[in-house]
Order: sequence, then C-alpha cells, then structure tokens
Amino acid sequence: MTPSAALAAARQLLDRSDELARHTDVPGELTCTYLGPAHLAVARQLAHWMGQAGFDSVRIDALGNVAGRYRGRAAAGRQAPCLVTGSHYDTVRNGGKYDGRLGILAGIALVQALSEAGLRLRHDLEVVAFAEEEGVRFGSTFLGSSAYAGCFDTALLDRRDAQGTTLAQAIVQAGRDPQAIAQAAAPPGGIAHYFEIHIEQGPVLLDLDAPVGVVGAIAGSVRRRLRLAGQAGHAGTTPMRLRRDAACAAAEIALYVESRCGAQQGLVGTVGQLEVPGGSVNVIPGLCTLSLDVRAADDKLRDAALADIEAHVAQVCARRGVQCRAEELLRAPAAACDPAGQAAWAGAIAAQGLPVHTLVSGAGHDAMMMARVAPISMLFVRCGAGGISHHPQETVSQADVAAALATAWAFLHEVDGGPGAPAC
Ligand SMILES: [Zn+2]
Repeated sequence: MTPSAALAAARQLLDRSDELARHTDVPGELTCTYLGPAHLAVARQLAHWMGQAGFDSVRIDALGNVAGRYRGRAAAGRQAPCLVTGSHYDTVRNGGKYDGRLGILAGIALVQALSEAGLRLRHDLEVVAFAEEEGVRFGSTFLGSSAYAGCFDTALLDRRDAQGTTLAQAIVQAGRDPQAIAQAAAPPGGIAHYFEIHIEQGPVLLDLDAPVGVVGAIAGSVRRRLRLAGQAGHAGTTPMRLRRDAACAAAEIALYVESRCGAQQGLVGTVGQLEVPGGSVNVIPGLCTLSLDVRAADDKLRDAALADIEAHVAQVCARRGVQCRAEELLRAPAAACDPAGQAAWAGAIAAQGLPVHTLVSGAGHDAMMMARVAPISMLFVRCGAGGISHHPQETVSQADVAAALATAWAFLHEVDGGPGAPAC
C-alpha cells in the first residue's frame, strides 16, 4: 500500500467513523447500545459498505454480527481455514467514535484495497463487526464474539435489561431468531489467525511517540464488590475511639489497592465505585460498598495481588470492628497473543520505518474471546488527547490511521503466506 493510498484510506475511515457516530440513542452524544435503533442502523451501514468494498458475501447473524467474506484464491468452494479480523460496533454511554469501530473499518479498508487492486489472498478473509462487546444493555460483555467463537452462553437469553426486556425478546424485536445463534459461529474449516486493530485506549504509545504498537497479551481481570458493615452512629456524640466507621475502612482498603498494585510492573488495581448507601452529613457511615478491579497480563501476578488485598481487608476490618462480604463479579483469564502473529506485526511495523513497541492491553477486547478458538494478535493505534477513551474526546490522527493501515497491509500478506507465516 503506497503512503498516498494509505492516507486516502485513512481519510475515508475517519469520515466513516463520523458517519457512524451520527447514529445514537441519545442526541448530542454517542451512545449506541445493543439492538437499539442506532445499533441496527450502524449494522445496516456496515453491511452496505462491505458490499461496496468488494466482499463476495455479507451476512448479519442472529446476534447482529455483520460478517463479510472476501474469497481467497486457493480456498474457493472448500472448507479451508480463513483469516479473520474484526472488532465491535456497540459503544459505552457517551463514548468515543473509534473504540471498536476503527478495527472494523480498517478491515473493510483492507478488503477494499485488495479488491481495487484485483488481488486475492491465499486464504479467505472474513471481516466481522461484532454486535456487542461493552455489556452496557444486558450487563454481559462479548455477546457478539462469544457467538462467533461458538461459545455463547444460552442462559444469557433470559437476562433482562433495565426495562425488563430479555435478551431473547430483544433479538426477536430486532427481527432475528434466538434459535439461530448457533449458526453465528465461525464457518467450518476454522480460523487460521484472528487479528484485531484497536485504538490503544491509553497514553502509552503517545508517551513513546509511536503511532502503532504490538500487543503482547490482553490482561486478565477480576472484579469484586465489597460490602463493609460497621456501626452507624451520631457524628457529634460518638467518640472517635468507639467508632466502627465503614467508609474509613473502605478508604484504607482503596489506598492499599493503589500502593500494592503500584509497586509492581504490569499490575493495575482500581476502586472505581465507593458509596455510603443512605449516608448523611451527621451520621457515621455504618455501611460502605466499594468495587475492586485488578488486572495483569499474568494471572499468577494478579492473583497474588488479590490474595494480599484480601489479607489487608481482613486486617483492616478486624482492627475496626467491621464485617466484610465480598462477591466476585468477573474472572477473566489473560490472553496471550500468538508469538508468530506478534513477530509478523513487528516485521510489518519495522517495514514502515516505525519503531516497534510491545505493550499489554489493560482493556478487554473481542480478541480475548477469539483466543478460545484461534491464535490471536492485535495492533494498537495511538490515541490523541492524552490517550482518553470511552469518552467523547477520544481521537486518532489521520497519519496514525494511515500508518496502521499500511502496517496491516504488510501484516496481512505476511500471515497469508509470506516467509515465517503462522502455520495454517
Ligand atoms: Zn473496544
């Protein structure tokens, strides 16, 4: 891909991101939640662009995944493993234009470039726009990619949204059939390699002054909710030494999470929710709830930190006369990226004359789900505006998107059959 072709493709990608962002559940911001009118419109638009780009077939499955297939020269008519790329098109509430969508639009741009050049790869290439990753409407993440990976949990069909609509009902209302979810699974023949292009959603590449980076692993996360019960009391009459203040216990725990996770490379810990239910200005907090989110590229490192945090919680609670009840909400294993895929990305980046950096993804991605059925790899694209994401200020530059597309073009040819390609 020539630099000028990459720049033109990047311009089109950014324009398309703007166009998709016009579909929103809430005027004035970008909120595109699963199977709402905005979401259905985005799916139709993506399918339309895939048709225009030269894909041989486009399908929308029961979950709402939009999958376009560009036939390879060797695999036509046979059930051979294919290359797959994709990302998600749902958003968080008041989110950014590029989270997820950049990866889908990059896949469409690659096929458009292949089609315009009259090129066919050895493998079929499938570009998948996953319908749901963020978990906003039904509180369950990766609905789209889990169905595509063939590991959709059908118990989720009974999950209800805030309005009481079940997932099964929402699928029927969208004109689709929940019974057909099994058909959303990737076609027989398997997946030779899954790759995902995604904005970094953090400041690391910005700090390194690098437009793109290779992902070494996607961090595994554990989320818990802690409920601390002390003793409410009069803020004026209860002496300090006789208090059992649940919020002060929570404060000690939050500070410990910060210091324990800050002391070790590759580990992050966050108390993102902290609440005194029914609290008053003149009442000692008898109850406090807090969330805990701990992530690392290595599950052992993460679990060691969790064990230390548990021990600290027990010690703080014993000293303060506070009872703690902990509930685990999520436990996702870390997903390592395929070494051959990482090497192919590194080679493709170096071929553009760019520095090669490898980083850990602290955020979860559809690639985690795809890691269950295929070797995976990821390319991160630098975010502007301090690396902010899940926010209206989320941004990428045309030059960085062009660098990502040129890199992906080189990568694609490498994994398709260049020297050192992953075995298919
Ligand atoms: Zn995303």
